Amino acid sequence: KPTIAIVGRANVGKSTIFNRIIGERVSIVEDTPGITRDRIYSSGEWLTHEFNIIDTGGIELGDEPFQEQIRAQAEIAIDEADVIIFMVNGRDGITIEDEFVAKLLFKSSKPVVLAVNKIDNPEMRTDIYEFYSLGFGEPFPISGSHGLGIGDLLDEASKHFPEQPEEEYDDNVIKFSLIGRPNVGKSSLINAILGEERVIVSPIAGTTRDAIDTVYTFEDQEYVMIDTAGMRKKGKVYETTERYSVLRALKAIERSNVVLVVLDADTGIIEQDKKIAGYAHEAGKAVVIVVNKWDTVEKDSKTMKKFEDKVRENFQFLDYARIAFVSALEGKRLKTLFPFINEAGENHRKRVQSSTLNEVITDAVAMNPTPTHNGSRLNIFYSTQVAIEPPTFVVFVNDVEMMHFSYKRFLENRIRAAFGFEGTPVHIIARKRN
Ligand code: GDP
Repeated sequence: KPTIAIVGRANVGKSTIFNRIIGERVSIVEDTPGITRDRIYSSGEWLTHEFNIIDTGGIELGDEPFQEQIRAQAEIAIDEADVIIFMVNGRDGITIEDEFVAKLLFKSSKPVVLAVNKIDNPEMRTDIYEFYSLGFGEPFPISGSHGLGIGDLLDEASKHFPEQPEEEYDDNVIKFSLIGRPNVGKSSLINAILGEERVIVSPIAGTTRDAIDTVYTFEDQEYVMIDTAGMRKKGKVYETTERYSVLRALKAIERSNVVLVVLDADTGIIEQDKKIAGYAHEAGKAVVIVVNKWDTVEKDSKTMKKFEDKVRENFQFLDYARIAFVSALEGKRLKTLFPFINEAGENHRKRVQSSTLNEVITDAVAMNPTPTHNGSRLNIFYSTQVAIEPPTFVVFVNDVEMMHFSYKRFLENRIRAAFGFEGTPVHIIARKRN
């Protein structure tokens, strides 16, 4: 998907526009308890276009001067976006900060669409002309608070979307990526995995614009390791920010079948780890939890179990994920990782037979009757798998409202127990039978 970034100094109304653009997204994924969502990155749709959108505003750099803040924002936009929406405030005219942003954007080769916000009525339209002098062509008048002009703005932005490249790999290849906050050891792990004995790296490693794909074979399984561009090159101002690591993670997640959520045994689990892992779960990807830097922990016979309990407690929404304990630095226990990746990858695209599925559901209902409400009972007529990646089941019922979260969860567990879906989320959708 193409990516739009919104850039501009503080108080021009970036977040309002961002929220307007993403609108009310209808998602089949339930709200997951325990995940704090940070809507700085989302996806949107305009006409036939689907895109990702980044609100670069308010990067947490501490008390840096505004130039540094803006520079970091602009860097993210320039590196990550296909199109940049440069927002200014029509009420204020051009400020020094606007000029500073303009100068940074001017140096990049990315297309920029200039949006003049707070033009709340047609009489104010004359206010936009001075913004021609910023040098980005026609300014687009918009009003975040009134929701005006956004369609025209998106029309213009979508003209600059690049052609989408075809997905270039076979279906049986497992595409995976490593996500985690900075310094948990992602790059070290990439190198350690590729350095394993008998890993055969293909000489024709594919390279897309956003990512460096490394194609390799290990024990007859072909893999593509998706290394979002720059994971291995570091040093920009913004690379230590939380916003940036989330952004990296999302880009990698999008193209993966299996996501390795990397934790640091040395520093332990923090809130940011959960947030990043939450994105993999919400995207419906298969997940393996990798506890790296296992060499730094002083161990006795209970250490691993204790750490595992801590992981389970913190990542309840990833109860399907296996946990591997490794040391990238010492190259230890890496072999334990591959079976988990394979299993997760296979289960993520597993299909089950409808006949068996319906037997499993019938048995489940016999064991634990469906909920009732006001004297009527939830009836399950028929179930079928409608999608893979992740396995998605539609259960046809008499009344969707009566399919409570807890009952859905129960059915999911029965399906898991019957078919084995280790490593992957399973989605269940209740639908009314017509
Ligand atoms: P990234 O930001 O997640 O890509 O992390 P890096 O791979 O750059 O690693 C961050 C730091 O952790 C570096 O100093 C690594 O040498 C160190 N590191 C990575 N893996 C391990 C490990 O398994 N054990 C120990 N002790 N240090 C590690």
